[in-house]
Formats: sequence, C-alpha cells, structure tokens
Amino acid sequence: MNRRASAADFAAAQRVAHLGTETVFAVSSEAAALAVQGKTIYPFHLGDLNIATPENIVEASLRAIRDGKTTYCPNAGIPQLRDALAEDVSRARGLDYTAGNVSVQPGGKPVIAKFLLTLMDPGDEVLYPNPGFPIYDSLIGFFGGVAVPYTYAEGSDRFHLDLDGIARQITPRTRLLILNDLHNPTAAECTPVELERIAELVLEHDLLVLSDEAYFDVRFAGASRSLASLPGMRERCVILYTFSKKYAMTGWRLGAAIGPKPIIDVITTLNVNIESCPNHFVQYGAVAALTEDQSGPREMMATLKGRRDVALGILNATPGINCLTPETTFYLYPNVTGAVKSTGCDGHESFRRLVLDATGVSFCTRLHFGHALEGEDQYYLRLAYSGVSTAQIQEGLGKLKTLIESYN
Ligand code: PMP
Repeated sequence: MNRRASAADFAAAQRVAHLGTETVFAVSSEAAALAVQGKTIYPFHLGDLNIATPENIVEASLRAIRDGKTTYCPNAGIPQLRDALAEDVSRARGLDYTAGNVSVQPGGKPVIAKFLLTLMDPGDEVLYPNPGFPIYDSLIGFFGGVAVPYTYAEGSDRFHLDLDGIARQITPRTRLLILNDLHNPTAAECTPVELERIAELVLEHDLLVLSDEAYFDVRFAGASRSLASLPGMRERCVILYTFSKKYAMTGWRLGAAIGPKPIIDVITTLNVNIESCPNHFVQYGAVAALTEDQSGPREMMATLKGRRDVALGILNATPGINCLTPETTFYLYPNVTGAVKSTGCDGHESFRRLVLDATGVSFCTRLHFGHALEGEDQYYLRLAYSGVSTAQIQEGLGKLKTLIESYN
C-alpha cells in the first residue's frame, strides 16, 4: 500500500525525528542570500577551499572520461586506487594495509554512516566529540544508537581532549569510539601519551574506533599520528580517509574506509546497496593525486599557512579575543568570551549576527558543532580560512577588530 496519499499526509519514518544536520550549510545559505542583496561577505563559515584542484588530477580524470571510464566499476573502487591508497596510508602511518583493507567511498562523510551501520546495534553507546563534526551525533541517533559526548578543554597552548571524561563515561553498553584527532573545529591533536591512553581504554573496554583522519595531511609542521598505528589498534580502527582537503577536491566526492578486512567487506556490501560503486572516472584522478608530483598540495599548504598567520595576527590584536596557534587543519577556534561580553551580546548566536550584519564577516560558532555541555561558560568561534584570500582576511577581520574596539 502507498504510505503517502498526498504530500499533506506525509508521515516520515520515526527515525527521522532523530536525524540532525550540518547547520554550517545554513550559515552558508544565509551568507549567500546577503551577498545576492549586494552585501560584501567574508566567508569564514565553510570548510571548503577556494583553491583549484591540481591540474594533473583534472587531466587524469578527463582522460578517463574520454577513455570510456564512464561505466560502473568494482563496488570497492578500481584496483589501482585501492592499491595506491593502501600504500600511501600505510607509508604515512607505518602500517601494512593492502587493497583488501580499502573500500573507496563517495567522500569521507559516507564512512561515518557505513561504520555505524556495520558495527552499531540499536541501544549501543557511542562516544563522540562535542564540540565536533555534527554528523556523528546526527547519525548515531538516526540509526538508533545512544550518542555520548566527550569534550575538549582549552589549555594555555593547545586544546586537549578530555580523556578523563571519556574514561568516566564508558559503560558496559559502550561499543564504539569516534576519534577525530586533528580535530574540527578546535584543531586539537593528541600527544603520543594521550594516544596511548586512548589505545589502553579501547583495549580494556573492547571498543572499536572510527578514526576520522580527514585532516591527517593538512598540517604546517610536525607529523601526524594515527591511533591505528599503536599496538593492537590496527584491528580495531576504521580510518576515514578523504581526498577533499589535501587535494582540494571537496566537490569531487571521493574518500575511503580503510581498516580490518571483515569490516571493510561489509562496508563494500553497503556500497552495493547504496550507490553500487564510487564515481568511476574521478578515481583515475585520485590515482594521479596519490602517485604523481605533490607540488599542488605543497603549494596549497604554503598558501594556507600564510592565511593562518595573517588571521592569527589580527585576531590576537583584537580586544577580548584569544586564539591559539594550531599546526593542523585550516580552522581557527578563538575564545571570544571577552568580546561577546563587551558587545553586550547574550550568546554565540547574537554575537554571530551582530558581526555578520555590521561587517559581513560570516563564521560559525561553537553551537554549530554540537550543543553546549553542562558547565560551559566560554564562547568560541570557528573560522575556516580555506575559502578566503589573504586580502579578504585582512579586510574582513580588520573590520571585525574595529567593530569590537568600538565597544571598548
Ligand atoms: N570529517 C570531518 C571532521 C570533516 O570536517 C569533514 C568535512 N568537513 C568530513 C569528515 C567529511 O568530508 P568529505 O565528505 O568531504 O570527505
């Protein structure tokens, strides 16, 4: 029988009540609407890049289209790409993955859904970061799990994950941990000792982990580490890999799930059920991305570093704003508690609106990355500098500084 006689009778499935969203996109639409009305907008809201995909990647994909790579392809992705990913990810993490450990995906994001669908039963508890990427919370609830937030605390030189909070919240029902080291939005990363402590907890409580490594290769100094490379973790971690950030390929929609073969095999069966296979010809571009000249990503990182430094200089010269210097991601997460108070705003959203209306500087706040937890009394913004030029940063954040100064 047809469940829907007319649009007016539309009754969504019960699980839809638990479905969240990424409110960052709403900020983006709001800013776009203001731009159409003629307002100058400085877009710090979305983690997208205004940097072109390197030419060799574009060329390889175009060639693939002309060569007829426009058909279905193997459900887990083309063998060349699975090999190249296994090799690249293994080299960077000191691991020994092979093609059988790789399921290519239409973006990094689908790995979150497929990891949960593969491993989480209704009622299972899943630890996830808050503040954090909002899709974790949304999908855990949508698929019938119980989302248990852990948080990050601001230290004098970095944000650090609340390990005690994680340990305290583990119960006999806890099955999964989502870790986004090199963290969106705070840009936090664990020390080796912290990663070891997480590994201990994972082993002690028999957990499986989604290691969201979307920003693993987006860093200005030092080297990234993966939880998967710690003893005992390779068999317990599924890595979320994405081409979006490192190769400026957000709109291409290409990523991968990488982990133990039995889990990856189920994820590939989900591919069969949901999209059949990842987009065929873009995978040839991805092979070129991984195996050819790396000057594209190197130049991108140099550009991003220049932007980061300009943004940090202006933010830290603004009264009531304090911003730590992250070595990873393309986000800044300034503490703006003083500025919120000096402008008389009563919270994150009123401050965001005040600044947007007065200056055109558009950003997200802590509240776009989860809900405030008990005891939170500081205000934070998330500024993405991946989609703004240095000139826009100077002009936009200069206006923000002048605005805040006018209240002091
Ligand atoms: N994880 C995190 C932490 C992210 O910030 C993002 C993108 N903003 C993703 C996953 C997914 O990115 P994509 O689907 O473009 O690979």
